[in-house]
Amino acid sequence: MTVTEHTDLSKLSTMRLGGEARYYTEVTSRAEIEEAVNWAIEHQVPPLMIGGGSNIFWRDEGFEGLVIVNKLMGYDDRAEDDNNHFLTIGAGENWDSVVARSVSAGLSGIEALSLIPGTAGATPIQNVGAYGQEIANVLVSVDAYDLHERTFVTIAASDCGFGYRTSRFKTTDRDRYLICNLTLHLTRKAPAEPFYRALSDYFTAHSITEYTLQAVRDAVVDIRSSKLPDPAKVANNGSFFANPVVDEPTAARLLVEYPKMPHWPDAAGRSKIPAAWLIEEIGFKDYHDPETGMATWATQPLVLVNEKARSTADLLAFKAKIVDAVQEKFGIALVQEPELLP
Ligand code: NAP
Repeated sequence: MTVTEHTDLSKLSTMRLGGEARYYTEVTSRAEIEEAVNWAIEHQVPPLMIGGGSNIFWRDEGFEGLVIVNKLMGYDDRAEDDNNHFLTIGAGENWDSVVARSVSAGLSGIEALSLIPGTAGATPIQNVGAYGQEIANVLVSVDAYDLHERTFVTIAASDCGFGYRTSRFKTTDRDRYLICNLTLHLTRKAPAEPFYRALSDYFTAHSITEYTLQAVRDAVVDIRSSKLPDPAKVANNGSFFANPVVDEPTAARLLVEYPKMPHWPDAAGRSKIPAAWLIEEIGFKDYHDPETGMATWATQPLVLVNEKARSTADLLAFKAKIVDAVQEKFGIALVQEPELLP
């Protein structure tokens, strides 16, 4: 394990903003995780683990601690029988490569999570989901280093505190666990209708009637590629706001005023409203802000892009403009999805 000093944090976030890390290292094994944590304790600085940087951005003040980049690899497929496979995946694996590999092997459960940027280890943190699938549905357990107890632990999926795009790892136990690997339960179940509208529209438009795993993956890759900016080319953190879920009276009140508002009621009677629709309605679609150098992406206003922002303060100022306008017009508080670190 090698520790370097004064690392530019903007290179460790696809939003490409932020100050400097006092210390930086990469880990490729559980032993190196322990070594890095002990190093941080010895030097009396906090450790902070990251993956691919696609869902984080950094404070301008930087971080006076040790940034640990998770590079733990591994893809171990254990078949209980032909239908039930248990995959143990290193947290540092590129998530989309894991999806591609499982789809090629004919394993179902994560095909709709194609092309989500970042590492496998990041997926349980916000319970990544798309087109009706989410990691919570297939996760068996997470192996992690517990910074409180200073030992490795296995956490069952039922103990991860999963909710809509959330978990204990970003709420009650933020900063406690360094995720080492995930175990997923995948099966040979074929994709079946009903599909999310975006997918079924795609199948209709492309005359696809055989819903294979590869067909779902290809459709999601195509939809995402056409709608979302490539973080390698355009600085962004993907969806910047979670889709708000409101109670029944709020949805009813809004529907009187905005009868065309898209909304999806859940089993508890609450309604999910697309944040993208709210942002469009306040006039922020394809909006380029000269003050902050930030913009919303033309084909998906939920994605904030850094065109020429000078600092994280610019991004936060742009975020505030959107949050305030949505609050004022709809009485809904938009919640930021990527994590501001440290
Ligand atoms: P979209 O297809 O325009 O849909 C917008 C919203 O409508 C999403 O909240 C989606 O719910 C909801 N929706 C659409 N069809 C639905 C159905 N049949 N039942 C229930 N809810 C439905 O979304 P988008 O912004 O382009 O994103 C595409 C997919 O990627 C969505 O599933 C989105 O949630 C997902 N995504 C996930 C993350 C993440 O995990 N961090 C980030 C970005 C996008 P759901 O959110 O429940 O899917």
